[in-house]
Parts: sequence; C-alpha cells; structure tokens
Amino acid sequence: MDAREVVDALLRPDLRGRTAYGAPQLDVPVALNTNESSYPVPAVVVAAMTAAVEEAAAGLNRYPDREFTRLREALAAYLGRSGTTVDPAQVWAGNGSNEVLLHLLQAFGGPGRTALGFTPAYSMHPIITTTTGTAWVDGMRGVAGAGAFDLDAASAVVQVREHRPDVVFLCSPNNPTGTALGLDVVEAVYDAADGLVVVDEAYAEYARAGTPSALTLLAGRPRLVVTRTMSKAFALAGGRVGYLAADPALVDALRLVRMPYHLSTPTQAVALAALAHADLMLETVDAVRAQRDRIVDEIARMGLSPVPSDANFVLFGGLADSHATWQGLLDRGVLVRDVGIAHYLRVTAGTPEETSAFLDALAALVPTHA
Ligand code: PMP
Repeated sequence: MDAREVVDALLRPDLRGRTAYGAPQLDVPVALNTNESSYPVPAVVVAAMTAAVEEAAAGLNRYPDREFTRLREALAAYLGRSGTTVDPAQVWAGNGSNEVLLHLLQAFGGPGRTALGFTPAYSMHPIITTTTGTAWVDGMRGVAGAGAFDLDAASAVVQVREHRPDVVFLCSPNNPTGTALGLDVVEAVYDAADGLVVVDEAYAEYARAGTPSALTLLAGRPRLVVTRTMSKAFALAGGRVGYLAADPALVDALRLVRMPYHLSTPTQAVALAALAHADLMLETVDAVRAQRDRIVDEIARMGLSPVPSDANFVLFGGLADSHATWQGLLDRGVLVRDVGIAHYLRVTAGTPEETSAFLDALAALVPTHA
C-alpha cells in the first residue's frame, strides 16, 4: 500500500474521495476570482497596524485575551453604525467568518442533525456542514416569473417545512449570484424553522441602497444569527477576521466549541487598528460598487446575461463554453471564477483598470451582438 492508500483507509469514510476547497491562487496580473478588495490597506492604517503589533510583540509570551473584549466592543460599535444597536455580548469573532460558521455547526450541528442551504450559494456552507458530521440538504432557488437565482419566502418555507433542518443557511447578498434577500424571506424562514437561521452577510456593505440587513431582525429572535466578515468591504482578507451578531445566550454557547485563545494577539491588534480607521478602510466601497454596475451594464451590452448584484462581484451567463472563456481570460492575464454553473462565470469588481482589462479581454472572446 502506498501512503495515500494507507491514509485513505484511515480517513473518515464520509471524507474519502472528497475534493478540498480550491479557488486557484495563481500569480496573474488581474486576480478577480475570490471577491477580495483590490485596494491595498491605506498607508495610515498600515502604520497604525504596525505600531499596534510592535506594541503587542513583547507580550507574545502570554496568551491573547481569550474573550477578545476590545475587539468585540469595536465590532459592536461598527455594526451599530448601521442604525441597529448591538451589544458587545451579542458579538462573536473568529479567524474569518468561515471559522465563525464552523463554531456554529460544531455547536448546533453534528451527527444526526441536518443543515439546509439554497444553492447555488457559498460553496463552504456544505463543506463546513459535512466536516462537522452534519448532513447537508441541498435546497433550491429559482422563482417562476422572476430571476433563476431568486429565493422567495413561499418556496423557502416549503423547503424548511419539508426537511425540518437544525440549521438553515441564508446568504444575502448571495455568493455566487449576488442576489440579496428581502427581510420577508428571513422572517418567514425563521417562523417556519425550529432550528438556527444563519444569514451570511459577508457582502452586506456592498448592497444597493434600500437592501436591508437582517441585523434589524435580531431583537426577540434568539435562533437568528447574522455573520459578517472583515475580508471583503473592509479590505482585510489576509487579517482573517470574521464575526457574527446574535443573542448573548447563543454567543455563550459558542464558547463550548472554540479552541482557547483562538484569536491571536496580532490578529486582534490588526483588526482593532483597522476598525479604528473604519471610514478609511471602507472608502473604496462606492468605487467598487460603481465598477460592479459598470460590469453589469457592459456585459449586457455584449449580449451576455449578468445577474443583478448587491455584492462586489457579478455572475454572468450566456457563455457557449464557460470553461473555454475562463481559460481565454486567463491567457489574457485575467483570473475569474468558474463556480461550476454551466455557461456562467463570476468576476469580482476590482479597480477601474482591472475592470477594463477584464471587459476588454471578454469582448475579445465573445462574439459581439452589436
Ligand atoms: N461567506 C461568504 C458568502 C463568502 O463569500 C466568504 C468568502 N468568500 C465567506 C463567508 C468567508 O470569508 P472569510 O472566512 O474570509 O470571512
């Protein structure tokens, strides 16, 4: 037996033959495949982060603040800017919102339990679910007479009632489609479900005006969780900080499953420095929104089918051979994402220059319908 066979024989049977999360990390001139911010951290914030880490460095012989108290206060204050008061006791954080989602599944999923999501949605939802031994149920999107990727309250409620999941994932704005949900959907799903309802709002800051956050629904709903991240609009993907807001009792339950001291001292220091400069860190959000809308307009003009987006990316369809288009873009130095939906690709809205490079490369590949 070679080493792989030995490992396979020992591996949990449900993990055998699985493929790992694998967005390609290629060195290309224009990387528009993982919905990061294309804008570097501003120099003022770099200086503040460096100073904060330097100050903390001599104390690295000690474990970090296990309760990340200052970070929770800063995150609560940041969420409060949207108009909904959030208490620090309602906040939990982790190394990216992926870890926060993992904590939720460790505490509320597990063997014999199920989680339901409405796909296509974020590919890590089923992966995190199944790595915790929780069964995944693939729900459906699509509303007759509306968009193929929309989800309405009636359809979501029918699926929740049918499967009676312990955890329901909603994603708004949804990755990879960019589709936001009305609060009526969140409310209806909450009322229909007996279990946890997790609204993944990783892209909330990019939403178009009038697209509400589920934060406004938290009061009086102890089974509702809203997850956010500093990886997207906050331009801090490398910092690995994600967080959630929920009832303090639910937050308390997550202490049962997290590893002690899971947020390192440097992570907390960097995130605090970024939050102290929130306005500066979020300064490019409007510019990114403008490029997103430009992508939608120009792609439609090419005769392709962009999906309306409330996020920092656009899913577009109408491609005869989406893999050939993906490769053709890569050959021209532009990396986008093949999310596994036939005839569709997803592109992140970057700087105006990156967006132009993408649009020019795409125009060269797609026959014009002028
Ligand atoms: N949720 C959604 C919908 C995402 O698209 C992503 C990142 N692509 C995440 C969560 C996780 O991001 P992070 O772990 O960097 O916070």
